[in-house]
Amino acid sequence: MSREPNTWCRVCGAAYFHCTDCERVRSWRTVCDTPAHFQLFLILHEYREAGDASAARAALDHIGFPGADFSVLLPEIQQIINEIIKEK
Ligand SMILES: [Zn+2]
Repeated sequence: MSREPNTWCRVCGAAYFHCTDCERVRSWRTVCDTPAHFQLFLILHEYREAGDASAARAALDHIGFPGADFSVLLPEIQQIINEIIKEK
């Protein structure tokens, strides 16, 4: 079976392989390359739905974001995180 990358992470843009079995169980592998990026994805998704910056900030803080790999994230993701952090 081929393990060539066939999708990309919606958070950092990295290409990775995911199988159709993952798709069926709705695993984090369907949208992100790592569980950490999936957590981030969920927080940002929640923020976009609810618009609650302080809840999002607390959730980001809980998973250690913005952390060391902030710079690897897609520009639009960085922008949303900056927005969350700056909003009072
Ligand atoms: Zn990623």
